[in-house]
Amino acid sequence: MSAALARPELAAMPLYNAGLGEAAVRARYGLTQVAKLGSNENPWGPSPAVGEALAGLSAETWLYPDASCAPLREALAARTGVAAERIICGNGSEHIIEMIAEAFLTPGSTVLTLGPCFGLHEIYPLMMGAHVRKIPVTGVLEFDVPAWRETLGQGARVVMISNPSNPVGCLLDEAGLAALIDAAPKDALLVLDEAYYEYARHEPGYPDSLRLLAAQERPWLVLRTFSKAYGLAGLRVGYAMASSAALAGQLNKVRTPFPVNVAAQRAALAALGDDAHLAYVVAQTLQNRAALREALEARGLRCAPSAANFLYVSTKHPATALAEVLLSRGVIVKPWTEPGYESWFRVSVGTEAMQEMFLTALDAALEALA
Ligand SMILES: *Cc1c(COP(=O)(O)O)cnc(C)c1O
Repeated sequence: MSAALARPELAAMPLYNAGLGEAAVRARYGLTQVAKLGSNENPWGPSPAVGEALAGLSAETWLYPDASCAPLREALAARTGVAAERIICGNGSEHIIEMIAEAFLTPGSTVLTLGPCFGLHEIYPLMMGAHVRKIPVTGVLEFDVPAWRETLGQGARVVMISNPSNPVGCLLDEAGLAALIDAAPKDALLVLDEAYYEYARHEPGYPDSLRLLAAQERPWLVLRTFSKAYGLAGLRVGYAMASSAALAGQLNKVRTPFPVNVAAQRAALAALGDDAHLAYVVAQTLQNRAALREALEARGLRCAPSAANFLYVSTKHPATALAEVLLSRGVIVKPWTEPGYESWFRVSVGTEAMQEMFLTALDAALEALA
């Protein structure tokens, strides 16, 4: 009955797999310890300034938040050099991906993205009836720039690229990005999802996308978020920088009126002001990522290149089966289910204790499945 009521586009839409939370896993398996390594959260948490900013919040909860996040957009403008009128904030950057789909896609529109892809880069376009074409990574799990150029030449309405990519972690370098921009149709909307920007920005070759795109006569958006390196995933705030105020205005038409709540706006402003904490988090992450890669490779497992706070790992087993065994031991990872990648899973970089728990559970799981 309800299937007949729903728009036909919904029939082709998978449900986003958000994974289980810590409390659910503890309850399901009767565990006391859980290592949540499935959602690329930052286990070192936000700046201590966030706690101070949230103190006394209850006195303000009866007021609606600032609808356009004006103070936060001003702070982001000062930080990035992009005028505040070209910045829009959302309830996480996933909300901005949704707005992009709603504002720019109609049934039959073509969206190009990477394969394997971040689920929402596919789900929201499908919601609008768009056709999603995925351009696979190469055999060594890098962006296939010639294939991208060829496919871009065949036309697209929206081009969605996460850089570094999720789930693979690979980085599209400055020359590669310039080559893609050059091949992209002038009337296509280019979307660079830089959710892991803070981790990748010091990697050799990581493009200064704002500088590259500023020279372009075309519509573009660069997305960033407070959910990952800034440690605010639970509060939901992300933002987009647009090629023009007019483009930001199109997104403003489709967004909900008060997408970013009072706590999230305060917290994001405080987090943005603490560069020392951000540097600490990034340094810890890169150090633990190297240790995690070494431990996985020592076990004969293949890891894709990563410029982000996770590793994409291949095993000989179906990833969903492996993840189920890990889950029963209190370790949450994200198994991949896209065709061709069913033996791959994504694991977030954690604290040393979390990574130790993961490796112990992994050894047991590999033995159980052997
Ligand atoms: C985590 C992630 C997001 C979602 O970020 P939110 O701001 O929490 O919605 C968006 N894009 C990519 C590629 C991500 O990995």
